[in-house]
Amino acid sequence: MDLVSARLAALSPSETLAMSQKSNELKAQGIDVINLSVGETDFNTPDHVKDAAKKAIDENYSFYSPVPGYLSLREAICNKLKKENNLEYKPDQIVCSNGAKQSVCNVLLALVGKSDEVIIPAPYWVSYPEMVKISDGKSVIISAGIEQDFKITPAQLEAAITPQTKVFILCSPSNPTGSVYSRDELKALADVLEKYPNVYVLSDEIYEHINYVGSHESIAQFENIRDRVIVVNGISKCYAMTGWRIGWIAAPKWIAAACNKLQGQYTSGPCSVAQKAAEAAYIDDAGFVVKVREAFTRRKKLVMELTAEIPGFKVSEPKGAFYIFPDAAAYIGKSYGDRKIENSGDLAMYLLEVGHVACVGGGAFGAPTCIRMSYATSEENLKKAFARIKDALGKLQ
Ligand code: PMP
Ligand code: GLU
Repeated sequence: MDLVSARLAALSPSETLAMSQKSNELKAQGIDVINLSVGETDFNTPDHVKDAAKKAIDENYSFYSPVPGYLSLREAICNKLKKENNLEYKPDQIVCSNGAKQSVCNVLLALVGKSDEVIIPAPYWVSYPEMVKISDGKSVIISAGIEQDFKITPAQLEAAITPQTKVFILCSPSNPTGSVYSRDELKALADVLEKYPNVYVLSDEIYEHINYVGSHESIAQFENIRDRVIVVNGISKCYAMTGWRIGWIAAPKWIAAACNKLQGQYTSGPCSVAQKAAEAAYIDDAGFVVKVREAFTRRKKLVMELTAEIPGFKVSEPKGAFYIFPDAAAYIGKSYGDRKIENSGDLAMYLLEVGHVACVGGGAFGAPTCIRMSYATSEENLKKAFARIKDALGKLQ
């Protein structure tokens, strides 16, 4: 008998983490699986950041930190926002949490209640609609297909807004599509939002530094909606620190205070040592971000070449992040022996079990004919993985 609450029963497990787990299980059985499923870089955390963490341990940063994080870390984040994004924030507008994942969830729990709607452009990051469920809200999905580079138009946004709309979630650069909204595109969305003063914008900018088309643009730069924007960011992707679990929001003071209150009853401040490491990364990245971006630029070029060799894949060139999101509709409905590919989840499972490459089916991202591959791995691995994918797909009839 299943005794979990109705809230938990309605929740789907994270498909990205599930595929990664499955790939690790096969590896543990001795199968040589290449994991392109989870969004995690293969770089190590920079040495000076590791040194800062070791120093923090020696200096006894072993006590509870303030709930929103150490003042010194929040100041470093404010300096980063000023220097890199030309955005003015004060430390009491910053709340640090256990990864940007918690930051997103905090904001939704703080703002969304029963009968509130949250607008989510699809393809979306797997966790957004599930977090909306946790907060008792209702997701309103707007679909943007490959023909519009997976980006919504201002008219689509406006058509989705109702008197119940509380939050609009924007993710640029995007997981899973790699698309990036230009300044003009963001301005056009901001101009729509200006007309709806009860709508808040959760701007997930975790892939800020992995951008191939120019410098990062935040929707928080537009004064007409600035007091309704919550920026979410963190150290996982740009400083290769997924396991350290530090994310943060920069928000209007009352929203930061609400997240602070929530977190105070729920998790307290995030890990003290990880905060000191994050602070070191924000004070000086020692050229790491540029190095990472250069590596990803090469990898992106390579995966564009490799996917072009796969018949039936339709690809929109990623402008940021480290995912490629081909439309694989041509393979849905095909079979291998008595194994039929009914949807993109089946296709991902087929590629894992027959091709020994882990990807994630697009269904989990609201794009049922697509498939997500993370290219956050070596060029050698990528060549091997795409040769296997091509070979496995070639067997489908
Ligand atoms: N937002 C997006 C779009 C992501 O891809 C991720 C990746 N996990 C997160 C938020 C959360 O990042 P983390 O919790 O590792 O900081
Ligand atoms: N966000 C990453 C991804 O999409 C990490 C996994 C997760 O947190 O769901 O793969």
